[in-house]
Order: sequence, then structure tokens, then C-alpha cells
Amino acid sequence: MTIALHGICASKGIAIARVYVVERGRVGVSEYHLDETEIDREIERFGRAVEKAREELRAIRDRIPSNTSADIAAFIDTHLLMLEDSALTKAPVDLVKGRHCNAEWALKLQRDALVSVFDEMDDPYLRTRKDDVEHVVTLLQRLLLQQDKPYDEKPDSRVTGHVVLADDLTPADTVSLLHRGIAGFVTECGGPTSHTAILGRSLRIPAVVGMHQARLYIHDEDLVIIDGRAGVVLVDPDERTIEHYRALRRHIEEHHTLLARLRDAPARTLDGEEIVLQANIELPGDVDKVTEVSADGVGLYRTEFLFMNREDTPDEEEQFQAYSSVVAALRGAPVTIRTLDIGAEKTLDGGRSGSFWSPNPALGLRAVRLCLKEPTLFRTQLRAILRAGRRGPVRLLIPMLSGLQEISQIKQLLGECRESLTADGLEFDPDLPIGAMIEVPAAALCADLFAERLDFLSIGTNDLIQYTIATDRLDDEVNYLYDPLHPAVLRLIDMILKAGEAAGVPVSMCGEMAGNGRYTRLLLSMGLRQFSVPPNALLEIKQVIIASHAGRLRELAQEVLQASSGAERLAALEEMNHLDFD
Ligand code: PEP
Ligand code: MG
Repeated sequence: MTIALHGICASKGIAIARVYVVERGRVGVSEYHLDETEIDREIERFGRAVEKAREELRAIRDRIPSNTSADIAAFIDTHLLMLEDSALTKAPVDLVKGRHCNAEWALKLQRDALVSVFDEMDDPYLRTRKDDVEHVVTLLQRLLLQQDKPYDEKPDSRVTGHVVLADDLTPADTVSLLHRGIAGFVTECGGPTSHTAILGRSLRIPAVVGMHQARLYIHDEDLVIIDGRAGVVLVDPDERTIEHYRALRRHIEEHHTLLARLRDAPARTLDGEEIVLQANIELPGDVDKVTEVSADGVGLYRTEFLFMNREDTPDEEEQFQAYSSVVAALRGAPVTIRTLDIGAEKTLDGGRSGSFWSPNPALGLRAVRLCLKEPTLFRTQLRAILRAGRRGPVRLLIPMLSGLQEISQIKQLLGECRESLTADGLEFDPDLPIGAMIEVPAAALCADLFAERLDFLSIGTNDLIQYTIATDRLDDEVNYLYDPLHPAVLRLIDMILKAGEAAGVPVSMCGEMAGNGRYTRLLLSMGLRQFSVPPNALLEIKQVIIASHAGRLRELAQEVLQASSGAERLAALEEMNHLDFD
């Protein structure tokens, strides 16, 4: 009999394969007492385990394929950094000395202490950091107990082509399993933003996470179907179901082949409106994906990733080289470099320093606020961006602006940077266009005033939605309220687009909403003409654009905007999306 189990969609795609169960969660450890004479030996044993853990993680990082997203290496780097942290290296040694206990037990005590701190913080992003602590402690405990990874004991052929089912997988496990050619994975732990889920998406492996107690119902060698889009796993499917999913998989593959053919087609609507279709990137290494889909440049370069997961801060020269390499790779297409957006869920040095602690981080010292408070940090970045502007068309984008005063402060700082660059004899672009991320309701409501003072606007829907509805989309308790179609959100987007049009200032959208094909026609109907989307969504959006008639859509915008209920709005959207203009 087929059973269907529901989890959380981590990565789309369909896998039909047999299961390979691995045990990756916490390791059972017990305490034993050590005599004074045994303490030094135990500390050495612990030191060797830490060194071995570093070697293992470095080896895994070195095997990451060069064409995979840079965030994969960043996850492994986070664990490597934690192995340098005294909380996981010195504190357990102190416990061994103080309690005369074994190192595995000392690690368990330290993990419990750290996890309870994270639990009290009640922040969904920090829950992910809690996972990191669990993963690193478990790795060390396994090495101390000399337990090999279960999937290493078996020949590659045993894992290859299987769906891996585990209680939990660390980022390092996921990368190792990728090398063994797994068909997909299912985990009992994890949420949509856990590192394992993000890795699944980056690596394009069908995956479902957060399927609690899955190992009660799914066993080694069971035949399963993962439907990653729906977050469903079908166990022991019958022939008809298998045939249905095979057909669906073929359909998805054909769809991808079709999309690939659109690479060089212009993003032009049926009535001849040229749409600018740019890509979002996080690290210079992402530019390959941008050129692969032939984007019209980079609409959002999130520079904070250059600053994260490291102990030092990149200096002007390092930043200049990084930005220039993106500009060079784009060969004349514009690059929109966003200044540092640190704070809230994005922290420097993995959040270890806690130097910017805030009672309410999302409303606190974040992004441009932090940069204005730390002018040395900001000036260094502004100088590097101004200099990169000499290498090709660069635009400067400022995140989280909420008031006009901030614009004046930035202009003042930019003036100082230009003067100091001239004094230093360094070349820069004196006319670098400056734009604002409109992602705070205050900025959206004053978009006309922002447009008067700036060269372009870019709508950051991720934050705009969360701040407008006052709902954290990473928080499972309230993220059901997070809705791009909320009338308040649509009205604000409408206001921003109208303000841009009135002032003759281009408006782009770079939040996730721009990369979701479901909203493309609606946004076209409201007048959006510039999209910046994740590279892997770009061709999908282009497909919708070239099958749309901008003029006729414009007549329909009000039906969605003026709908009096959610159901009516959805119906109007669906109708718009199903229109055939041929
Ligand atoms: C946004 O808020 O929509 C945005 C693009 O910025 P980020 O996702 O980096 O906060
Ligand atoms: Mg944002």
C-alpha cells in the first residue's frame, strides 16, 4: 500500500529511487571519570579530534565543484570557524580538567549550555546557528568515538542513485553525498531556511526536510518518490503512480530544455515593450550563472557575503578587486553594487562577536544605518565601489533607507570619498548613479521624494513585505501572514512605480517577488519594466514576459488592485496568468 508523508519542500524536483537510511543525528555518549594522571592524555585526544575534524572539513570544501554556488563553501567555512572558537575548543578542555570527565561528555555539556542560550534567543535564524553547534559537536564526538560516517562504510554504488533518508544532515554530509551521486534526500530535522535545505536547492537535488519520524515509516531499500515541489514523499508507490511521476519528470525536463532555448531571445513583450531582465548575485563567483542565462547585467550584488564567515574585514583593495572582477566578467553590462546589508539575520564573523547586539535586530542597526554609524567601514566600501566604476558601468545601491537625511549623509560621504581618491591619485567614476532600495514602508510612501534626489529606485520586496505586514517570514509562527498580494503591499508597489514614472527615474524590483513567475504579469500590468531575479529563475520569467501583452495587461491591473477580498484577488490574478494573447 502506498503511503504519503508530508514534510517541508526544500528543493524542487522529482526523484524515484530506493532508500538508503543513514544515522547522522546526535551520538549517544556517557560520562566516565578520569584520574588526575589521565587528564593530559584526554586533552591530547580531544586536540587530535579537533585537528581531524578540521582536516575532514577542509578536504570536503576542496572537493566542492567549482560551478556550485559560493554559499556552499561558506557553510563549511562556518563550521571550520567554529572549530577555532574557544566555546568549542577551550571550554570543553576546561570541563575535562574541572570535572575529570571524558571529552565526549564535556562536549555534550558544552553543547547543552550553548543550545539553551540559542533556545532563549527565540530567533529563527539563530535556530540555524544552533544546528551548526549540533553539527560540529556531533562531528567531534564521532571522531572521539572513532565512528566513521555510515555512508563511507559502504561502496559508492550502494549510495549512488539512492534517496538518502537521515535524521539530520550537515552541510559537509550533503556535499559528500552529492559526490556519491544521490538521487535526493529526506531529513527528519530542518526547515525551509536550514543550511541543508539551501544546499539542496543550490545543488538542485530533490529534497524534503522536516519530515518528523520519517524513519518510522520509511526503511532501507523501500522504493519512494520525492515530490520536492509539494514536500511529499510517497512510499511504496504502485506502477500507475510511478508512471505518472515519470511523465511529470519528463515534462519538467522538457520544460527546462525549452527554457534553455530562450537564453538569447530578447525579453520583449508581444506588443514590443523591452523589459530589462537582470540577475541577483552574492559573490563574484556567481557571475558565471549570470552570463549562462544571458542576463542584462546585475541588478543586485549583495556585497555582505564578501564580509561574512571571516574574522577580518576586506580592505579597500580586496573589495575593489572583487567588484572589478564582476564588472569585467559582465563585459559592459551594468552592475548594481549594493552596499553592506549587515544586521538582522545577516551577521559578521558568524555572529560570534555580538558587537552589534540589538533588542530588535530587524528594526535596529542594520544595513545603511550601521554603515553610517561606522563611517570608516562605509568609506572603505564607497571608495572601492567608486573605483570599480572606472572599470565599467557600475551603479551604487543603498539598502534600508528610511529617511531623506540618510541620503544627504551618503552624498556628503561620497563627496569626501571623491576628494580623498583624487588626493590619492586614484581613478574613479565621478558620475556613479546612486539608487535606493525601497524596502521600508516609510521609503515607499516617500518614493516621490527619494526619486527627486536619486538616479534610480529598486524595490526590495523581501523586506518591504515583512515590514509592511510586520511579519517575519523566517518565523514559522507568523509567516502565514507573509503575502506579496496583501493589498497594502500592492498599493505601496503601485505608489513606488508611479513615483518613478512621474519623476522619470527608473524603478527595478530585486526582491523574490520579481523572480516568481506567478507575479510577473501582475507586475507588468502595474508598469514594472525592470526585473532583477536569481539567475536560475531568469529564463522562467522571460518566458512569461514574451508571452504577455503589456498594453492589455495594463488595463487589467486594477482588477487585482481593487479586489475586495483575498479570494477575488487570487481569482483575478489566475485569470490574468491564464490569458492567451495570441
Ligand atoms: C529585499 O529585501 O527584497 C532584498 C532584495 O534584500 P535582501 O533579501 O538582501 O534583504
Ligand atoms: Mg532587503
